[in-house]
Amino acid sequence: MALLADRNSQLLVDGKLVAGSAGTFTTVNPATEEVLGTAADADAADMGAAIEAARRAFDDTDWSRNTELRVRCLRQLRQAMQEHIEDLRELTIAEVGAPKMLTSGGQLEGPVDDLSFCADTAESYAWNTDLGHATPQGIPTNRTIAREAVGVVGAITPWNFPHQINLAKIGPALAAGNTLVLKPAPDTPWCAAVLGELITEHTDFPAGVINIVTSSDHAVGALLSKDPRVDMVSFTGSTATGRSVMTDAAATIKKVFLELGGKSAFLVLDDADLAGACSMAAFTAAMHAGQGCAITTRLVVPRASYDEAVEAAAATMAGLKPGDPTSKRTICGPVISARQRDRVQSYLDLAIEEGGRFACGGGRPADQPKGFFIEPTVIAGLDNDARVAREEIFGPVLTVIAHDGDDDAVRIANDSPYGLSGTVFSGDPERAAAVAARLRVGTVNVNGGVWYAADAPFGGYKQSGVGREMGVAGFEEYTEIKVIATMA
Ligand code: NAD
Repeated sequence: MALLADRNSQLLVDGKLVAGSAGTFTTVNPATEEVLGTAADADAADMGAAIEAARRAFDDTDWSRNTELRVRCLRQLRQAMQEHIEDLRELTIAEVGAPKMLTSGGQLEGPVDDLSFCADTAESYAWNTDLGHATPQGIPTNRTIAREAVGVVGAITPWNFPHQINLAKIGPALAAGNTLVLKPAPDTPWCAAVLGELITEHTDFPAGVINIVTSSDHAVGALLSKDPRVDMVSFTGSTATGRSVMTDAAATIKKVFLELGGKSAFLVLDDADLAGACSMAAFTAAMHAGQGCAITTRLVVPRASYDEAVEAAAATMAGLKPGDPTSKRTICGPVISARQRDRVQSYLDLAIEEGGRFACGGGRPADQPKGFFIEPTVIAGLDNDARVAREEIFGPVLTVIAHDGDDDAVRIANDSPYGLSGTVFSGDPERAAAVAARLRVGTVNVNGGVWYAADAPFGGYKQSGVGREMGVAGFEEYTEIKVIATMA
């Protein structure tokens, strides 16, 4: 790897690459269990310095008002990432265990490319809107609505799609004129720290505008939710941690943006191509070892075709053996850590305790003694009340549930604490659209349509989150609204 050549990444604080005051921690290749190297381990004082730098850069420079500078810096970052894309690909596959084929899309190239959407939005955005003349309370007044940056943003991110999630916060937050402190997951520090190297070497970002603080200690990240100098916290991760972030942010009434977990449903109506739909559901659930918040992990099929559906899903899943993520044929790589593998295994054990059965998979692959691999697994014989049908497993696991018609399918899909995404397959587009309209989720795939795009807002209903990431809506999350009323 040309980047991080000394295999020891640093923090980016106030425009400088610096060591962590708590020393270093290791980052591990989940496919081989080999230690790749170390990352700087920040303590509370390092985080305090990063927040202070972001605060100063927001309060004392023209960053928030200098759209031309912001656009230039974001374009420079995109170009630097593109020029180093093969090094970044190698790093991402090694640190995340991301299958190589996904690095051409959502794991790397897609989010890098999407930085141009953020720059373009900043350029074309109507920062000021004339609300026109009026005489409120009899006083002649000209009114303008101004959009402005919120201030200092604390961004806290998980390990499953680190570039996508880091850049989907950095891009719009900086484009909108905020300054930022990024605290990535301790499992994938290098995917974030490498941005510090590229930013200092290849961009004009002023000191303090973006700070990157890696730490092995979750409490260091929690300071972003608590510190009064931070105006907004933007978090992606589990619903349990999102709840802590929201609680911590309450003391200072920070703006809170949350992208959380999911337990999304793939609905197959009785007029759909059953085998084709079930095969697609199985393929999706095995991708990146199921470590995607919006993956549809409940396959909801007509009761009369239940056995056939289970068989079709299992036939596909059994063919997707977990393997080496550096191979361009691999769909299902490892999960991120031994802890995560054990967590997935505990859910597989629970499925049997709850009365379910495995139509394929069910544990660790016998031929993979090294690496955090789990066999793609189809669970059959349970209904939507089972814990494995209600709780997020975050592994390559698909639970097949029977429905008794469209109303029942909608009921099952919505019978979840989550509301992130969903899929509907039907031979009748109008019928599919009617079902899609009744789902309480933020994104719906109908008959294979793709909702993931730079201009499409992404996020969840219910306990899947608050707010939307990406698109113009995602950009506006990082703005405040000010009305200026001038007596005419
Ligand atoms: P996690 O919630 O354990 O950790 C996420 C981040 O929060 C990490 O950086 C971690 O260090 C930090 N953190 C932990 N405790 C904290 C606290 N008390 N205060 C502040 N920060 C804290 O999640 P994870 O295990 O890294 O990621 C997997 C989860 O993320 C899954 O539940 C998945 O569904 C969810 N996720 C959601 C989306 C989405 O967009 N909705 C995207 C990806 C992942």
